[in-house]
Amino acid sequence: MSLLSLRKVTKRYGNVVAASHVDLDVAAGSRTAIVGPSGSGKTTLLRLIAGFETLDGGSISLDGELLADESNSVPAYRRGIGYVAQEGALFPHLTVAENIAFGLSGHAERHARVDALLDLVGLARTMADRRPHELSGGQQQRVALARALARRPRLMLLDEPFSALDTGLREDLRDLVAEVLSSAGVTTVFVTHDQSEALSFADQVALMRDGVIVQAGSPEDLYFRPRDAEAARFFGEAIVVAGAEAGALGLHIAPDAPAMLRPEQFVLSTGGADSPVSGRVLTRTFRGPTCRLLIETTGTPPFLQFKLDYPSATAPEVGAAIGLKVVGEPHPLTAPSPAATS
Ligand code: ADP
Repeated sequence: MSLLSLRKVTKRYGNVVAASHVDLDVAAGSRTAIVGPSGSGKTTLLRLIAGFETLDGGSISLDGELLADESNSVPAYRRGIGYVAQEGALFPHLTVAENIAFGLSGHAERHARVDALLDLVGLARTMADRRPHELSGGQQQRVALARALARRPRLMLLDEPFSALDTGLREDLRDLVAEVLSSAGVTTVFVTHDQSEALSFADQVALMRDGVIVQAGSPEDLYFRPRDAEAARFFGEAIVVAGAEAGALGLHIAPDAPAMLRPEQFVLSTGGADSPVSGRVLTRTFRGPTCRLLIETTGTPPFLQFKLDYPSATAPEVGAAIGLKVVGEPHPLTAPSPAATS
């Protein structure tokens, strides 16, 4: 069942259309990621849902209640929505406990609730008396999450909540937050420009471009079944082929529609005597567990070039002859863009 519904949501800043006729449904208990390049309208959408901005058109409803349309707007504090920003959103002069309990009533209830929330977000209860400047960035974000959860929101909004953190910490905190939110059963919408974060964290991914949601679906849909080459490339390396190029790889695709393959759909073998397609390694970049190889097909033109990652321990050297086999189907792109390969 859809908890949050956006219908034709439109927001303009002067001549800039930051959101244009956006439709989005978010199921109760699910996690939706809004992704897209910088300036595509992600934060605007989140702020409209939170009630920090007013709509120029369309409507937003939560649990059947109209939150906003062109002429009505429930104030942000009455929406029952939690909001965690990128960083620095804690009250600096209040302790951790006071930050978490801010706005809660009843001394005894506050105390018990703070302890439970500290446990939930994996912070020691002894941290309750610290002030934000005595915490690491990751700990501050946990407190911000605890504070947002304290008021038992109907919906949680996260605006790039991990972007200020280092990679390792970021992944750990992301996993913890996913666990906390799903154990609390909180419906979540979050904004990120990091595609791997979106794919691993969300049940539904909505890709924005120029104020429009160009595609929404499961992470697998967006990754394996993107609607156009630009969407394909947003989520990783994409090899877009059409016509004769597909023929060179032994693929059968519709003559006038390009199709996309992910590099991991290529099985590479050294020697390559019985592989359908032959190739060679043009460059080899060591990246730790894997090497990134730039491959060129040989034999029948057109000769295609693309990059793929291969386990370092057995990666072929530059110049090595290899065999290639495609596994799985190429995915037809319904809204093509002109470039052939990335
Ligand atoms: P994103 O979060 O995807 O980076 P934003 O929602 O912040 O994108 O911005 C979308 C567009 O709206 C951009 O062109 C941005 O410059 C413009 N914009 C956002 N907020 C304002 C504002 N308060 N005033 C004027 N323009 C804005």
